[in-house]
Amino acid sequence: MIDASHATPHDSRAAPRIDGVDLQALAERIPTPFYAYSASAIRDRIASLQRALQGVDALICYAVKANSSLAVLNLMHEHGVGADIVSAGELWRALRAGIPPERIVFSGVGKSEEEIAEALSAKILRFNVESHEELLTLQQVAASLGITARAAVRINPDVDALTHAKISTGKAENKFGVSIEEARRWFAEKEALSHVQLDGLHVHIGSQILSLDPFREAFKRVAQFWRELEAVGHAIASIDAGGGLGVRYREGHDHPVDAAAYVAVVRDALAGFTGRLLFEPGRYLVAEAGVLLTRVIRIKHGEQRKFLVLDSAMNDLQRPSLYDAWHDIVPVHGETRAMTEYDIVGPVCETGDTFARARAMPECAAGDLLMIRTTGAYGASMASTYNSRPLVAEVLLDRGRYAVVRQRQSFEDMIAGEQPARHWETA
Ligand code: PLP
Repeated sequence: MIDASHATPHDSRAAPRIDGVDLQALAERIPTPFYAYSASAIRDRIASLQRALQGVDALICYAVKANSSLAVLNLMHEHGVGADIVSAGELWRALRAGIPPERIVFSGVGKSEEEIAEALSAKILRFNVESHEELLTLQQVAASLGITARAAVRINPDVDALTHAKISTGKAENKFGVSIEEARRWFAEKEALSHVQLDGLHVHIGSQILSLDPFREAFKRVAQFWRELEAVGHAIASIDAGGGLGVRYREGHDHPVDAAAYVAVVRDALAGFTGRLLFEPGRYLVAEAGVLLTRVIRIKHGEQRKFLVLDSAMNDLQRPSLYDAWHDIVPVHGETRAMTEYDIVGPVCETGDTFARARAMPECAAGDLLMIRTTGAYGASMASTYNSRPLVAEVLLDRGRYAVVRQRQSFEDMIAGEQPARHWETA
């Protein structure tokens, strides 16, 4: 049971507590900037999707890229959630967090031979294959290891996900998946594959999708293809619906679809399918559970603009500079102050290091604690040490308690593996 002071990061008041933890007190103990994730909020999201899937033969494979913290992966594992991985590093993390290989699927256009071999040796559930070249490599590596790979073809349904171009993946012009015509040829020729069992379909049209329509259209096309394949004798054991469910970045503006309505769309499109359904949500499970806690370094009065200079930057949270993404930014003091307008920026030496432009905010002062909301996904996992800023700490909050699940990097950690050029060799 979540205690009375539990508040998800999206309470409309400037909640000084998240998951029962006082954020001001927390920031006295842990130097900012740092990410804080509510375990209760993550559990709530897992539960809502699992509830929607009750009675369905389904496996949720969390998209590790969204937030690859071992602590988050542990939480997923504790609740029976598997993993959708896109690299050997993510495979390693998922296994390290205890996720069993039979709950791991491997997606991505650039799986190397070594990565394929590692995943085969680990006995993962399934490969989501993105090109004919990859299919042949999978066959060759599997044959050399004497293992039969289970594979799904990633269909590119040529559907506009109505999201940011950089996270749209289901249009014909995108690098992902293959057309239904090409997939049809794969099935027609599948007997030639001695070490690949091609018996799955996969589709993932993009991320941060806020309307059911693109999902409906994509699943309709996949369902049509599944029926066609079944009719000619190709049994389909699983259909992977991908991820993509959007979340609320901007209160009062973004209206995410609800998990039950989304599952209803999948079930409706795939009525009569008796195999297993796979889902690969990333953002939906973790984004709203996270905040980036940051302090104001100073207010800079520029010639034309007033800048709120924070101690966090684009290297800690890339989404605003990469996608022009909006994040609500809220003072944690909970006081009522006059409103003003700031450009909210970090210390990195790029104009792109801007979290928000002309943002209406209560007046701030140096030292004030702020939270940048909805940063549990594609925040820490996309961070870098640009400008030699060490990776920030990550903290898990759970019903009044907190645990540091990633220490802030020291300068020594930051340069681990680097050395001056002392030992010269020729190649
Ligand atoms: N599955 C695949 C193949 C992806 O590429 C991604 C994201 O890029 C996801 C799932 C997760 O997407 P989201 O975080 O939007 O749910």
